[in-house]
Amino acid sequence: MAEVILAKYGEIALKGLNKSTFENILMKNIRRRLRGLGKFSISKAQSTIYIESENEESDLDEAYLMMKKVFGISTLSKATVTEKDYDAIVAETMRYFDDELSFARTFKVEAKRADKSFPMKSPEICRELGAKILEAFPHLKVDVKKPEIIITVEIRDTNAYIHSKKESGAGGLPVGTSGRAMLLLSGGIDSPVAGYMMAKRGLVISAIHFISPPYTSERARMKVEQLCKKITDYCGDINFYCVPFTEIQETIRKECPEEYFTIIMRRLMVEIAQRVAGRDGSMALITGESVGQVASQTIEALVCTDAVCKMPVFRPVIGMDKTEIVDISRKIDTFEISIQPYEDCCTVFTPKHPKVRPTLEEIEVAENRVDFDEMVTKSIQETQKVTIRVDGC
Ligand code: ATP
Ligand code: MG
Repeated sequence: MAEVILAKYGEIALKGLNKSTFENILMKNIRRRLRGLGKFSISKAQSTIYIESENEESDLDEAYLMMKKVFGISTLSKATVTEKDYDAIVAETMRYFDDELSFARTFKVEAKRADKSFPMKSPEICRELGAKILEAFPHLKVDVKKPEIIITVEIRDTNAYIHSKKESGAGGLPVGTSGRAMLLLSGGIDSPVAGYMMAKRGLVISAIHFISPPYTSERARMKVEQLCKKITDYCGDINFYCVPFTEIQETIRKECPEEYFTIIMRRLMVEIAQRVAGRDGSMALITGESVGQVASQTIEALVCTDAVCKMPVFRPVIGMDKTEIVDISRKIDTFEISIQPYEDCCTVFTPKHPKVRPTLEEIEVAENRVDFDEMVTKSIQETQKVTIRVDGC
């Protein structure tokens, strides 16, 4: 019979009256992610989502890999489906697990009887099916504590599902259940990871990137779009805003004391980002800052940048070491793109000796030498927006 993916959700199950809203968003996200991979039937019952391919071109293994990236799913397994008949369950177990049982040394059977009208109770299913397996594979031993294989039989409303390996899903909450936020996305390692981490808590991510042509190249911008594309598997479609920043940066360099360049630049980035965020429907900003990583990420510097921001700023990697951030970037496959050596507008105008512990007062004095309002408005007017979509959508 058919093979299916069983996806179970974690935190959503605790959502009480809101549960169905979360479930519906999760189902919509799954449909969208699988659209580019073929035709699948997707249904839900009893806190489990069932995915089956509808034709031969629709590869269930590919769908399984994609499902591992969908937030809101806590565990995943591939199961074989059979009718709710004890003999059919035995025959299907022997067929489907022939290889696994031949090579294992120990096993255990677990049974869950959601359909209470099934004539055998769970312990009886375990005992009887276990005995049949021992008969067919005499080299095996039962080990209830640390078995190599756990064969799980689930008797559900419509069918019996039999599976072994259960893997962790992406966890978190379905994207779209927590509102929208604007990610300040550089071409570096940290900011894509920050976006991934907030999408995991159910936020829809938009991204904003600052460019300073001719100091930064078209290829540097393309690299950032590539990063966006990479995280769409996790985050869904992303509104991507590209902001021209050259005039502002050149003016800072000409008019402001060098030691304050970076902080003034970051304050103007945040100012622009929150205004673009407002139009985009984003209610918070996200950055990839981590305390102490560089001079602009000391607490004093963060106080100065936050002073211009009326929205909350989420910094999910703030307490992480670079190695921990790198581990996540490898896991989500952004690392190799991030390390491509293209310039970023932040690094083009780096001062030799940045002020590590600036005060807000001295920053404001330095910044007030110039009226940036018109330049900020112009940058926002010239901002380009594209939507980066999940593959196949
Ligand atoms: P990343 O933090 O992404 O690895 P980085 O460490 O080179 O890159 P920093 O100079 O530390 O970047 O900047 C800190 C944060 O500022 C970034 O995580 C990102 O959120 C934001 N940022 C930096 N440059 C840009 C840019 N060109 N456009 C948008 N946001 C940026
Ligand atoms: Mg960084």
